[in-house]
Amino acid sequence: MDWSPMSNEKNLHADVLIIGGGLVGLAASHSLARAGAKVICVDSGHFGEHQSSQNWGFVRQQGRGLGELDLMIEANKRWQELSDLLEQEVSWEKGGNLAVFDTPDEEESYRQWMREGRSRGIDTNYLDLDGIKQHIPNWKRSVRGGIFAGEDGHADPQTVVAAYIAACREVGVQLLADTPVRTLLRRGSTIIGAQTEAGILQAGTTVVAAGAWSRQLLSTAGIDLPQNYVVGSVALTTPVAPLTNATVWGGGFSFRQRRDGRFVCSVGGGGVVRLNTDSILQAPLFLSAFRKNWRRFALRPGIRPAKDLNAVIRGGQTIREIGPPAARVRTSEPIRALKQLQQTLTGTENARLQDSWAGVIDSTPDTLPVIDAQGGPDGLVIATGFSGHGYGLVPALGPIICDLVLRSQSSFDLSNFRLDRFNAGAFKAPNAVL
Ligand SMILES: Cc1cc2nc3c(=O)[nH]c(=O)nc-3n(C[C@H](O)[C@H](O)[C@H](O)COP(=O)(O)OP(=O)(O)OC[C@H]3O[C@@H](n4cnc5c(N)ncnc54)[C@H](O)[C@@H]3O)c2cc1C
Repeated sequence: MDWSPMSNEKNLHADVLIIGGGLVGLAASHSLARAGAKVICVDSGHFGEHQSSQNWGFVRQQGRGLGELDLMIEANKRWQELSDLLEQEVSWEKGGNLAVFDTPDEEESYRQWMREGRSRGIDTNYLDLDGIKQHIPNWKRSVRGGIFAGEDGHADPQTVVAAYIAACREVGVQLLADTPVRTLLRRGSTIIGAQTEAGILQAGTTVVAAGAWSRQLLSTAGIDLPQNYVVGSVALTTPVAPLTNATVWGGGFSFRQRRDGRFVCSVGGGGVVRLNTDSILQAPLFLSAFRKNWRRFALRPGIRPAKDLNAVIRGGQTIREIGPPAARVRTSEPIRALKQLQQTLTGTENARLQDSWAGVIDSTPDTLPVIDAQGGPDGLVIATGFSGHGYGLVPALGPIICDLVLRSQSSFDLSNFRLDRFNAGAFKAPNAVL
């Protein structure tokens, strides 16, 4: 689409336009502004209001897909210093991560992961039930065993979002909330910015970090990003006395205890895959993941999109609706999550449900992200598709996206994250839909 300025509307210019003010966009904005770039970051609503503040808050290397493990190892180092970098408290807790299992097959696959993790320098160890009880004295669930990685941790997503927003302001990022981008703007073979509801934003480089809406947004420039939507839900309990600082997950449950004593818990698993006409069109790419993992997730029809952001509008006319469905908590899930917690830890008997929410997770066919400066026209960087584990990666993403924008390359090996792996069929079916 050719760019033409619109009268009576706000037209702005920056070195870099970041579309999406979740943590990926905020981290990129922060790094770029620190490097001296003039940055505008836009969000269709409030910054960080989607996945970036809805997630469980786990920051784990343990159990990561091997394709993004090196990236996570880098991110883990950066979490240790994130408060200093942002000059804001981020609530980071290095409490370790415990993954428990019940069957010999699960044990074998965890042990295999443990060997791989160790070969890359991760301190992860096998624990029998007694060993688990030494780490978590209130543990009462009978499990076959677990693996524990002491360098992993957690942080409150809302605190981290607030810290990044404050840090972005401090370094001069222009943050525009309530500014939905309608289309990417193209001049010849170059992306030159975006058309928003408030006017045109022009930039030397445009970064698409729009989470579950990235597919839709990229399609306005003719770019096909395969993306499915998986709904995950979260429950929050009333506070109890401090019981553990570890993040814990196993077959069908996960939890962590916040500094204020509340547990964030979930039934875990693969979530609910929401289907709409668009996801059915993409089915061939996702088939191998679905076939391999069909026991781990539920398929449900997508609810009609709630926001008009889901409509792709060209020339004032709605041409199709393809955005993610609205996320709703399935009412039984928070109750089951609390029950699982209570079956696992003594001292949680009096905990009650205080809140619950759900989020739409953007998932790719191999559950690896797309981080790519060559995935489309010039002037475009794509950073999206984090498939349910992008929160932990955030501190590594800012510097990497900054390098892609300013130097068109990164010292980090990003070959696993190229967009063209999907066209070339050069990707592996993951072990989960998330
Ligand atoms: C329930 C749940 C639990 C999770 N648990 C974990 C966990 O424990 N550990 C972990 O590592 N990860 C976890 N994740 C995944 C993690 O939260 C995400 O991978 C990460 O937050 C993705 O960040 P993002 O910035 O790409 O996306 P988002 O945070 O979704 O941000 C995208 C932003 O783009 C904006 N946007 C979209 N379209 C437009 C447009 N057209 N114009 C302007 N703005 C637009 C949206 O408003 C949104 O704010 C979880 C996710 C969920 C939902």
